[in-house]
Amino acid sequence: MSVDAQTMLLLSNAIAFVAATFLLIEWRSLRERFLLSFALGFLCIVVGCTLAPLRQSGDFLLGVWLSNSMVPLAHFMFLLGAASFAQRRLSPAWFAAPLLCSALMAIPGLGDRDQVMSLFNAAFVAVFCLRAAGVLLEARRTTGSETRTLVATFVVHGSFYAVKAGCAFVPGAFVDLSSYSGVLIPISLFEGILVEVALAMSIAGALRRRREERATRLAESDPLTGLLNRRGFEARTRDVQQQGGSLLLIDIDNFKTINDCFGHQDGDRLLVDLSAFLAVRLPASAVTARLGGDEFVVLLPRIDEGRSLRLAEDLCTGFAIRQGADNCGTLSIGCAPVLPGVQDLSPAMRQADRGLYEAKSKGRNRACLAPCFSGSEARAGILPYPIAASG
Ligand code: GH3
Ligand code: MG
Repeated sequence: MSVDAQTMLLLSNAIAFVAATFLLIEWRSLRERFLLSFALGFLCIVVGCTLAPLRQSGDFLLGVWLSNSMVPLAHFMFLLGAASFAQRRLSPAWFAAPLLCSALMAIPGLGDRDQVMSLFNAAFVAVFCLRAAGVLLEARRTTGSETRTLVATFVVHGSFYAVKAGCAFVPGAFVDLSSYSGVLIPISLFEGILVEVALAMSIAGALRRRREERATRLAESDPLTGLLNRRGFEARTRDVQQQGGSLLLIDIDNFKTINDCFGHQDGDRLLVDLSAFLAVRLPASAVTARLGGDEFVVLLPRIDEGRSLRLAEDLCTGFAIRQGADNCGTLSIGCAPVLPGVQDLSPAMRQADRGLYEAKSKGRNRACLAPCFSGSEARAGILPYPIAASG
């Protein structure tokens, strides 16, 4: 079975049109810039494929030069889309590249016209694709796994075009652009169709994964402070709790009074202020969450209870100075150790809660290690301390 170049161009045009329409519709509702860039890239392919048949009637300017210029321009738009998806800025020099490519393709007397045009066309497409893959890889810490198929598509397509550029002067590879003859032309058209489909599906997949990740982030964060909520804390500590460390349970003293005296908005401001204070004072490895109301929890991986108690005391002193208030808006903190290898943080939470109760009952604005625990917890090996009398 053989499929002629015109049929492949028609297919390419149709796929690019559907992809552009789909991405434009998504862009209208989501307003994500990368969707617009990719849609414009596919529209460039539509224009290029629509103009291409004009070359058979001898129209070099529209049918060959402009039609072929659309291919690097489309890939430049894909590069812009990748950069915008990865939230990276491209250097301004990149914006001159498609114009430079079109200009180089039009220079007369640079040798065989078709070969020169094929060389620049393929070389610029290869560079745009490989840069797009690079941009996505550089940002993989923020984009996560959602770009894996996009990167693979750009690498394969860019490598194909690099080979194509290398073959530009091989006799018979690009014999005549006007009549679509030459070995590489049908292969290139076929590869183009595969890449269009792969690109459109990868973008749709990346978009879906990004939406899911955003929904998860929203479900796991506290809207007021931006910290994790209880669900987020449980998800984030699942792995680190295995290393052991300490747990701090932090509660603002007489918070109700602050709400009653200064209003709910000032109360909210204090909660936000405390989150910022914790972000600055806690080590980078700490996992912090707002459990609800004025109660916060911190997991300190690989920090023993002695160090965590000193850290908690520093937090109390630092926040009291910041507040400049007597027992109003200060912090009470309960500390508890977390044994390495524990599957469940609830016993440590209960123990830290006892420490917090102790801090409150001793007059607030202080940190306490959990004073005692039940015999059954000790027998179950959940808690590391020997049973000791409280107080
Ligand atoms: P204590 O020193 O014993 O902790 O006394 P307290 O007044 O701080 O008592 P408690 O910790 O039980 O108070 C929690 C208060 O937090 C009760 C509730 O009105 C208030 N609260 C809960 N959520 C919010 C919130 O999102 N914003 C504000 N401003 N207040 C909240
Ligand atoms: Mg309180």
